[in-house]
Parts: sequence; structure tokens; C-alpha cells
Amino acid sequence: MTDDRLNQRLLDAVDAGFDEEIRFLADITRIPSLRGEEAPAQDVMARAYADRGLSVDRWKVEVDKIRHLPGFSPVAVSYENAWNVVGAHRARTPDGGTPGRSLILNGHIDVVPTGPLDMWATPPFVPVVRNGWMHGRGAGDMKAGLAASLFAMDALARCGLAPAGDVYLQSVIEEECTGNGALACLERGYRGDAAIIPEPMAEQLMLAQVGVIWFQVKVRGRPAHVAVAGSGANAIEACFPIMQALHRLEHEWNERGHPAFAGHAHPINFVVSRIEGGDWTSSVPAWSTFDMRISLFPGQSIEQVRAEVEACVAAAAAADPYLSANPPQVIYHGFMAEGWELPAGTEAQAVLARCHGLVTGKPLETTASTGTTDARFFGLYAGIPTLVYGPTAERIHAFDERVEIESVRRVTQTIALFIAQWCGTTPR
Ligand SMILES: [Zn+2]
Repeated sequence: MTDDRLNQRLLDAVDAGFDEEIRFLADITRIPSLRGEEAPAQDVMARAYADRGLSVDRWKVEVDKIRHLPGFSPVAVSYENAWNVVGAHRARTPDGGTPGRSLILNGHIDVVPTGPLDMWATPPFVPVVRNGWMHGRGAGDMKAGLAASLFAMDALARCGLAPAGDVYLQSVIEEECTGNGALACLERGYRGDAAIIPEPMAEQLMLAQVGVIWFQVKVRGRPAHVAVAGSGANAIEACFPIMQALHRLEHEWNERGHPAFAGHAHPINFVVSRIEGGDWTSSVPAWSTFDMRISLFPGQSIEQVRAEVEACVAAAAAADPYLSANPPQVIYHGFMAEGWELPAGTEAQAVLARCHGLVTGKPLETTASTGTTDARFFGLYAGIPTLVYGPTAERIHAFDERVEIESVRRVTQTIALFIAQWCGTTPR
């Protein structure tokens, strides 16, 4: 079969399975796979892999097995129900020939919380298609990507073909808070000559991503009746100068800049994302805790960043009458992620650009992400060229998340062509 003919057959095969793909996407979007509640969705993924004759590896992520590894993030919750799933296609080389190149198709099944339900136009876990978009929490980030990888494999099968190299379909947990699910795949020995992560990148290839660190600042003091509240003795209000000091650090880092993020006006974002404190409306609050998510450039070391953050908090505390008497604590409770850049000039990127061009008729555009993805594990700790490339989605992590159906089709087609060109094909 000529390359042109094979390519056209694969594109047609994705079209032939596309209604089923969208049904499958709706089925997994319907399952609220929030942190700690991913297991039912992982059961569906495991069944989908098994139905296709892939060998299924479903295992519980154990902190003790990964805590010593680079890239590990501290865990603040139970992993009692933390399941990863991998479906493996192992290439057969009956005539003793060398197998094709191997490939990891990774995606995360965990989704972020919905926020107040009354702010959604339609319920977040009742997926609906309107005007060419599927709405639902996780539909874009990134269940459409998980579906695209699965149905790209189906397209080869529909053409009577199998990849000539090993292909690992990974459905992992914890991407949104630690990345420990992807790390557990590395610990379990999964490797590939390339990896694709179909995060919602608007059909662009991500060349760089920031790192992310989560921490909490805890302020403790002595409670008082509001009638005798003096200024500067309020644990909640005492947090404000610390926040302001951290925002000055954010400003400094943005000023410093990074070549991979030259197109971004404000790549580094420090976000105060949660706050709690106090016990009673008529008591001066004696305690307060705020959460912060910060980002860092590729090349900034975790140790250095932690030292800068802690010094910043300590300096702000020293300048404040309440805080100098009640020094705050910094506690790390999630992401401890370095930034990452895709090495330039990989064969994997060239193949993706070719496949994207065949499907869309356009050159592959690139982007740098001000968020993190699991790509850092494959890239930094296993030397695997990792292509973060996926469909167009809007309002991920916000209300009314949605993914564009036709972009899901094109990404599925691009991945199908990529599998065939990267791994080669054999008759099924
Ligand atoms: Zn994601």
C-alpha cells in the first residue's frame, strides 16, 4: 500500500469510528473523576483497553514506591483508591525482524472541582453537545485526549493493521495536583521512544512549560475578643503583607523572563487560591492559612525556588508586628514540579508536524504553556521526546468547560497517522 493510500484509509477509519468516539467521550465525561474518586472512570478505561485486546495493567499508586524518585510531589491525601491503568500493545515480529519504534500515549483521567454548580449553564457531569462543542467538566482537560488516543489505535485496527512497535496507552491520576500518577508509570518501567500527551493545546505543539509549586502559609497567634482587638493582631489580616511580598517576587521573576516565554507578557503567575481562618465572627482570628500556586521557569531549581519563597515569607513576617511575634510556617502539600522544554530538532516533532500537515493542510504551530503537564516526567527523568498536542478546549478549570468536536476528530486523525509513521505497521 502506498503511503498516500494508507494515510487516506486511516483518516477514513477515524471518521468511521468518530460517532462511537464521541459517545465514549460522553461516557467518561459523565463520571466525576475528581481527586480520590477516579476509580470508576479508570474501570471504564481498563475495560476499553481490554475490549481491544490490549494487555491491561491496573495498579494502585503507592507513595513508598515513588517518594525517593526525582519529580515526586508531597502527598496530602490518602492513596487508598488511587489507581493507574495502562493498556499495552506489544508488537509481534514473527519473522524475527526488528520491531518498530515504541510510543507512549498518555492522558490523565482526574478532573478539577466544579466550583459552585449554579455558575454552570448545564450540570458539569451531564455532557451535552451544543453547536459543535461538548460541554462538561473534564471533556477538554483531558478526556477528549484519552478518547483520541484510544480511537486512533482503533483506526489502525479498522484498516487491518497493528503498530509494528510497542504502544502504551496510559490513563493516569493525580495530574492536576502532583503528577505522581505519571511518575508511578515511570517507576513501573514503562518507557517509549516518544510520547504524546493530547492535552487541550488547540492543535499546537507545546515547546515549553513552566514548573508549578503548591504551598500553604500558616499563621498562628492568640485569640482575642473583638472589643479589645488592637491593630496588627489579626491572623487573617496579617496574611496580606505576606501575599503582597510574594507578588513582588512574582513580578521580579516575570521581569527576569525566559527565552521560551518571550511571547508571554506575564508567564509567571502566583495565585492565592484558597484561604481559611478564624472561628467566630466576634473573635479576632487567631489562625489563618492560605494556599498559593506559584510557577517557575525551566531551569529554575526547586531548591532555589523554595529558598527564595521561604526567605520572602520570613522577610515579610519580620517587618510586621504580629507576624514577627508569630512566625508563619510554609508547608508544601502538592506540586513540586520543575519547568521543562522539548529538546529542539527531534524526529518525533518532525513526524508530528508532517501528520498534522496531512490532516489540517497547515503548518504545525508551537506554543509555550504557563501551566504544567505530565510531560516533565517523560522528558526530564526518562529522556523521552514528549509531544503535548491535543484538541481545542475552552474554560478548562473554570465554568462551562467545553471541547470542540471537529478538533477532536483532527487530533485523533493526526495521532493515528503518527502511530503508523512512528511505529510502522504490520497486518493484524
Ligand atoms: Zn490537563
